[in-house]
This record gives sequence, C-alpha cells and structure tokens, in this order.
Amino acid sequence: MAGRFVDGDGWAICSAGHQHWGRHGAAGLLLRTVGEGGADHVLLQRRAWWTHHGGTWGVPGGAKASWETPEEAALRELGEEVEMAVEGVIVERVHHDDHGGWSYWTVIATVDTPMTATPRGRETAEMRWVASTTVASLDLHPGFAATWPQLGP
Ligand SMILES: [Zn+2]
Repeated sequence: MAGRFVDGDGWAICSAGHQHWGRHGAAGLLLRTVGEGGADHVLLQRRAWWTHHGGTWGVPGGAKASWETPEEAALRELGEEVEMAVEGVIVERVHHDDHGGWSYWTVIATVDTPMTATPRGRETAEMRWVASTTVASLDLHPGFAATWPQLGP
C-alpha cells in the first residue's frame, strides 16, 4: 500500500461527545507473548510527553485510513512507531469498541517470543513487554484503560 494517501488524520467527535483522533476511526495492536516465568506479557508503548495524553502507556496505533482494514492500519502504525521484526506476528482477533460515529479497533496478535522492540519516530518514548497482571498498575492512556479489561486472554 506504499504511496497511498493516509486520509485518516484529523479529529472526530463520537456520539458520546468525546473528541477522538482519526476521522475514520483508529486502530492499535495489542501484541501478546509468553515471557519471563511463563507469564502472559503484552507489548506496550509509552507515548512521548508532547503527544495527546503524553507519558501514558497504551498500544502502538493511530488513525485508520478510509481504505484500510483495522488489521492493515494497526500493522502500518506498528511499523511507523516501532522497530521490530513482524514476520512472526499472527493476528488472532479484532476487538471493536464502537462509540457511535467513531470506532477504535484493537487488533490482538501473538508472537512466539518477547522479541526486541525499540521506538521508531518521535511519538514513542519507550516500548516494554509488560506482564499482563501488572498492566493495570501503570499510568494508562484513558482509551486503553477502558478497553483493557475486555482484552484479556
Ligand atoms: Zn467516544
């Protein structure tokens, strides 16, 4: 899809009156693996301080283009924000959070090992594999905090 215009940049208002980034909705990638001690881990991104909800933890993602599927948008955003090998990433399911007039899709995927993931670009301050049991204790992005209880194993 290289070279196609990503037309999703811009704010939208959902029917609940929230302001959201992404004119055609937004998508993020929740990547899971079995990490240290055999525990379920997820790959989280700490957003750069200058971004919307800067400094909070969530999943890499962003505005979906009108012509993209949620899976395509989430994987494109991952490539833009994170330096990592994506060959072994297997999409398991997509969680749809429908706000009415605006949607956030969390693409849930798995990978065999907690592979090295480093920030690419200015929007990401840090990438970290976090044990699922400790996710809720982090300073989470409000959108991710709201959906995390529905994204469990
Ligand atoms: Zn909303």
